[in-house]
Amino acid sequence: MTQKTHVTTTIPYVNARPHVGFALELAQADAIARYHRLVGHDTRLQTGTDENALKNVVAASERGISPEELVSQNSGLFRALVEALNVSADDFVRTSEQRHTTAVEYFWLSLKQDDIYQDSYSATYCIGCEDFLLEQDLVEGRCPDHGTVPEEVHEQNYFFRLSAYQDKLDRLISTNEITVFPETRKNEILAFIRRGLHDISISRTAERAGGWGITVPGDPSQVVYVWTDALINYLTGPGLGASNDWQEWWNDDMLKIHAIGKNVWKFHAIYWPAFLLSATLSIPNQIVIHGFLTENGRKISKSLGNAIDPLGCINEYGADAVRYYLLRMLPPFIDSDFQTERLRLVYNTDLANDLGNLVSRLTTLCVRAGYRRYHGEDAPQAPAGYHEALGACLFDQALDTLWSIVAETNKDIEWAAPWNAIKSGQHKSIHSRLHAWLGELYRVGYWLAPFMPTTAKAIQAAIREYPIQSSAPLFPRKAL
Ligand SMILES: [Zn+2]
Repeated sequence: MTQKTHVTTTIPYVNARPHVGFALELAQADAIARYHRLVGHDTRLQTGTDENALKNVVAASERGISPEELVSQNSGLFRALVEALNVSADDFVRTSEQRHTTAVEYFWLSLKQDDIYQDSYSATYCIGCEDFLLEQDLVEGRCPDHGTVPEEVHEQNYFFRLSAYQDKLDRLISTNEITVFPETRKNEILAFIRRGLHDISISRTAERAGGWGITVPGDPSQVVYVWTDALINYLTGPGLGASNDWQEWWNDDMLKIHAIGKNVWKFHAIYWPAFLLSATLSIPNQIVIHGFLTENGRKISKSLGNAIDPLGCINEYGADAVRYYLLRMLPPFIDSDFQTERLRLVYNTDLANDLGNLVSRLTTLCVRAGYRRYHGEDAPQAPAGYHEALGACLFDQALDTLWSIVAETNKDIEWAAPWNAIKSGQHKSIHSRLHAWLGELYRVGYWLAPFMPTTAKAIQAAIREYPIQSSAPLFPRKAL
């Protein structure tokens, strides 16, 4: 039976434009999905936008437009980024869609009856986080992430008995039944669970939500808490509640992988599996947690003024170059800095010089030496360490294995100086060398597909072309 794999990104709030941090998550999730496809798995990649957040209501009213208008405009920007970055998404879920409401209602009604109860409470709520903050979380009375004073909330809500799942969650995470990448986050999650899990509120009063959001089934006075609502998007794509075959893309036999940011592991590694257990649905197998990005040394700003626009970078350098930079130059799990100067440098060195030159010099050598057709296997062996690196979501290390081949091959060509043989009319004498070098380049082109799909295809096509022709530069140099 073919292995099935379901890969997802988180669904960002659409109260602002997409930033490079989300581009990183898209690139990682797409590399995972494309890798699984490359090794023959039946793979589905899903992304989307989270549109039912209270903060969308706030952002819309600040701009004097309706929440519907705001979410449609901004959702379009996120979809444009998905396309521009050449992310192979099979589905884009907007949580304002009817199919999502259907899934949320179905899910809510699937939760174990004993796990839901009503209670009133008082707490402080940060609308930026869309989460409750405890006294100890605050810095001088403010949310440390948003710098705002959280609002006092007193209301009657539905609660979920998260406390009942503490031992089960501990076991799932510690035995790697849910594998968390990286290991350091696994330890952080386990420590959080072992401090004791409290029951959580999973609804809001419809009044405080300003009428925005999904109504709790059977209780029009309440809307589903936006995080509960958002998590269920992972099942909206497969068609939960809407079709009979949603289990085709959400079952125990398949691999379910969530790519997320470090600020949302509590929701994905704790709340989400607990909800799924309560609803007797399959739990995810892997949670891949990336770090945060700064931009040119500064905290990512939501204001347009000095924010790096990922679409602008893609327009200037192309999707593959931006994907390469995100996946090779930024360590996958820790915080790092997105630098536009470094992107330009890396474009010129790694792409124009190392890879691009190799492709054009090799194809040119083929033309000059009368080597017309490449005979080699269609699916060459991956370089040593490549599968291991991708199995651990170490995208940078997987790319290292490919760039080692590029460097070695370039060095080998320099050393062999085949142009001397061509000058002295000994064309045939270098054909076996050309064959070996093309084989190495083809191997790079083949296994590059998860990271740089367009370049991978171009390299393979250049080598497979008959007769082989001098290839135009894949990455024309940029002036520094
Ligand atoms: Zn906050």
